[in-house]
Order: sequence, then structure tokens, then C-alpha cells
Amino acid sequence: MKDGFMRYDRLDNFDVKPLDRINNYKGLHTPLDEDKRREQAARCMNCGVPFCQAGVMLNGMFAGCPLGNLCPEWNELIARGMWNEAADRLLLTSSFPEFTGRVCPALCEKACTNGLDGKAVTVRDNELSVIERAFETGYIKAVPPVERTGKRVAVIGSGPSGLACAQMLNRYGHTVTVYEREDRPGGLLMYGIPNMKLEKDIVLRRIHLLEEEGITFVCGTEIGRDIPADEILSGYDAAVLCCGSTVPRDIKAEGREADGIYFAVDFLKAATKSLMRTDISDGDYISAKYKNVIIIGGGDTGNDCAATCIRQGCRSVTQLEMMPKPPEQRTPNNPWPEWPKVLKTDYGQEESIAVFGRDPRVYQKTVRRFIADEDNKLRAVETVSLTFEHGRPEQIEGSEEIIPAELVLIAAGFVGAQENLTNAFGAKRTQRGSIATEAGHYRVNDGKLFTAGDAHRGQSLVVWAIKEGRDCAKEVNEYLSGNIS
Ligand SMILES: Cc1cc2nc3c(=O)[nH]c(=O)nc-3n(C[C@H](O)[C@H](O)[C@H](O)COP(=O)(O)OP(=O)(O)OC[C@H]3O[C@@H](n4cnc5c(N)ncnc54)[C@H](O)[C@@H]3O)c2cc1C
Ligand code: SF4
Repeated sequence: MKDGFMRYDRLDNFDVKPLDRINNYKGLHTPLDEDKRREQAARCMNCGVPFCQAGVMLNGMFAGCPLGNLCPEWNELIARGMWNEAADRLLLTSSFPEFTGRVCPALCEKACTNGLDGKAVTVRDNELSVIERAFETGYIKAVPPVERTGKRVAVIGSGPSGLACAQMLNRYGHTVTVYEREDRPGGLLMYGIPNMKLEKDIVLRRIHLLEEEGITFVCGTEIGRDIPADEILSGYDAAVLCCGSTVPRDIKAEGREADGIYFAVDFLKAATKSLMRTDISDGDYISAKYKNVIIIGGGDTGNDCAATCIRQGCRSVTQLEMMPKPPEQRTPNNPWPEWPKVLKTDYGQEESIAVFGRDPRVYQKTVRRFIADEDNKLRAVETVSLTFEHGRPEQIEGSEEIIPAELVLIAAGFVGAQENLTNAFGAKRTQRGSIATEAGHYRVNDGKLFTAGDAHRGQSLVVWAIKEGRDCAKEVNEYLSGNIS
């Protein structure tokens, strides 16, 4: 089946309409039926140069799936209705397609040959349909190891990198304990990415499966505080730091101490906790209700904040972005199959357009000062425009503007792993605040300590965290097997 792309047009999973979906925190999409899904898979032309699965660096940017997912193979199997075989091929390279099938920016699709002069194959939606069908039909079962090696490994952090690393180490037969300081496992899958993009029962479904496979989760325990690093290193045969890049970049501006300024992840975490606890009826979250909200950061996290604020009933929402507005189409110096540096209007921005009649993003703007009242309650933000005339951002005098704001959310990225934890383990840090290892490796300080995910590569994506977790587990296994000393 190589000519489906000439017979069928691309059809994405259906979006719930913005004005309907803002009334709840449920998932944003509804899947296609089986016939339509098979047609979509048949659009894959099985081309001779499948960049979608290649995962290569092009012009300093990564193109294709970092996991090397065998997209053409399972597209063919879906088109033939061979769902279990498709699941087998998918699970060969991927630990958690149910996460990437929902939240991955689909690097594969940007590199799809069909996307060169037409519409890419719906690879991510196809991936999701394979794994969800496998769960529905009971094809996914716990895979405990046949034999235990007697080696014990501690994984610190239960985000996608920690989960993938734990899954693989457990399959190698090692006995794995995952430590997590939050009350539930999942890292940013649980307390970062909002429910609309990744419903939390999907995360818990996988955690339960990992438990069934024999992995122990110890939540509410912060390593370095509740258990000293030395105790981990002496008590286990190996330890893996999968603790994320959790230190948020702050905004240094006059008035920063005003009451009403929060980091985006704290806001999103509180919203999800309340949703899971009481379906938000306890009101125990940072509320945007009736507030003018300014989000500092025009990226994906800012978009998640905008969507959450709209659901909470904010009065207005504005996203300040420092960088210039990207082009609508690829520019000549950014050709296929490179990652397209083009304008993307995400779900929160669509919702803002539907509710307030405008895209929340304003470009080339930053905050000059926060303005509070006599009770230190935030009342407004003074912004200033930026120019890049000399290559670097420079403030334009006279462009200042005062915007009312009772809530500011800082979504300006992260500056690395927590220093007290890395110091406690004696791990060297890079200039970017990540844990240093030899390039392409995961071992820290030539000892029994390893690292993977955002803590290692810096703030990134779920697909990369899974890739690092899997590759790191291989290296830990070689170390435990005595193949590297
Ligand atoms: C709001 C938001 C939305 C995002 N949306 C997307 C998206 O749509 N798609 C996408 O691909 N990527 C997205 N990302 C990025 C993605 O979530 C991360 O790249 C990924 O989760 C990194 O995985 P990780 O396992 O390395 O770290 P994390 O997911 O950050 O997990 C680290 C875990 O370690 C725990 N921990 C830290 N220190 C300790 C300690 N001392 N003791 C015990 N536990 C500890 C933390 O509590 C946390 O649970 C988003 C990020 C954010 C912030
Ligand atoms: S993990 Fe992401 S890049 Fe890889 S096949 Fe799935 S959607 Fe594409």
C-alpha cells in the first residue's frame, strides 16, 4: 500500500470545539474510527528514505523521531489491520507510545516525505491508535523479568526518563526502586502537562503496569533531604538521577516580590492536584478567576497556562514573547525535512481567540516592572518593546505600556537540575546547569551514578526523556554486568 496518499486526504483526530472544551479539563481530541484510521495509515508511501524514523541532526537541528520509531512499518501493519503486529513493532523502540501519541510535537511528521509538497502522514495519531487499541483489547500486559539478577538500582525522579529507565532496568532483571518527592509518580507527565493534553488516568495506567512488573515506587520522599545521597550510593548497586530540569528561570524586574506572581509549573501543578483531589471543588489552587493574567513566555508552557486560566474563568490573558513572530511558512533557509521554525497556534491560543477574539501572544515584549498596590497586591505590569537590530534584544525607549494584571505566570524556561541534589551526589554540572557526562553517555564521575532526561540534556521533550531513559538503562546494565568498569 504505497499510494494511499493519492487516494486519501490527511485527516487528523477530531478536535473538540474550543468553546465546548473550555468548560472542562478533559482531553482535546476524539479518535477516528477504524476504517478511517487504516486509510490514514495507508497514506504512508513507505518511501525509500524514511526521514520520519531516521532521527538525525540536520543543520544543527534534529529531524525525525528521536526513538527511531519504525513508522513506515507500523503504518503498513495498521493499513492491513494487523494491530497486534503494529503494537509489537512500535513497542520495540518506544516505552510509552500512549504519552508521545498525545503530547509529542511529532518530529516524524515534520520530516515525512508526504509533507514535502503535501500533507504529512498522521504518524502521531496512528501511533496513539495502535497503543490505545492494544490496551483496550488486553494485548498490553505486564512483562515481569523471567529471572532476577540480584542487583538493585535506585532511580531518582519518576518523570518519563525515570519511568523509561526503570522499565528497561527491570526488564533486564534488576530490582528497581523509583524515588519521587511528589505525592504521585509521573514527573511533568503528572504535574506539568495539563489534563487536557494528557489525562492523568493514562499516566496512572502505566504506573500500575510498571508496579505489576515489579518496580517499587516510593513517593513523598526527597532524595538529598529525606534520604541522604550517601545512603542511596551505599545501599544500591547503581543509582540514576532522573530528577529533571526543575529550577525555573526567574524574571529580574522591579516589583518582583509583589503578591500575585508565580512560576508556571507551580500554577499548573496546583491546578492538577486540585482536579485530581476534588475535581477542583476544594478551590485549593492558584486561581485566575476574574483576573487579568499576563504570562511571561510565548512557548508551550505559556500556552498550557493560558488554557488553564481560560478554564478557570480569567478576565483576559496575554502571553509576552521576547522573540519576533515566526513566519507562517518555512523560509528558504529552513527547508524540509528540517524542523520547521514556523508559527504554531496551539490549543490554548485557539481558545483565547475563541473566547476573547485575539491571539494572546504579543511579540518582542518584555516586562520592565511589576506594579503593586499599598497591600503589595499585583495590579499591573509595565512592558517594553524590544528590537533585534543589533542581533541582541534591546529595549526601545518610549515604547513602555502599562497593562492591568492581577496574576503573572512566569513561563520562561528552566535553568537546570537542583544544585543541592547534584552537589549531594558530587555530580559535575555543565554551564547550562545540567549534570555533566561524557558526550553520548550517561555515567557520572566514572562511578555507579548515572543520569538521564532533562537533568542531563536540559529542558527538552517527553520523547527525548524516554530515549535517554532507555539508553541510560542499557549503559547501567552494561556496568552491572561487568562489561564496563
Ligand atoms: C508545563 C510543561 C508542559 C510540557 N509539555 C510538553 C509536551 O506537550 N510535549 C513534550 O514532549 N514535552 C513537554 N514538556 C517537557 C517534558 O515534560 C519534559 O521534557 C519531560 O517531562 C522531562 O522528563 P524527565 O523525566 O527528565 O523530568 P521530569 O518530568 O521533570 O521529572 C523529574 C522528576 O524528578 C523528581 N525529583 C526531582 N528531584 C528529586 C529528589 N531530590 N528526590 C526525589 N524526586 C525528585 C521531580 O519531582 C519530578 O517528578 C512540558 C514541560 C512543561 C514544564
Ligand atoms: S514519538 Fe514523536 S517523533 Fe517519534 S513517531 Fe511518535 S510522534 Fe513521531
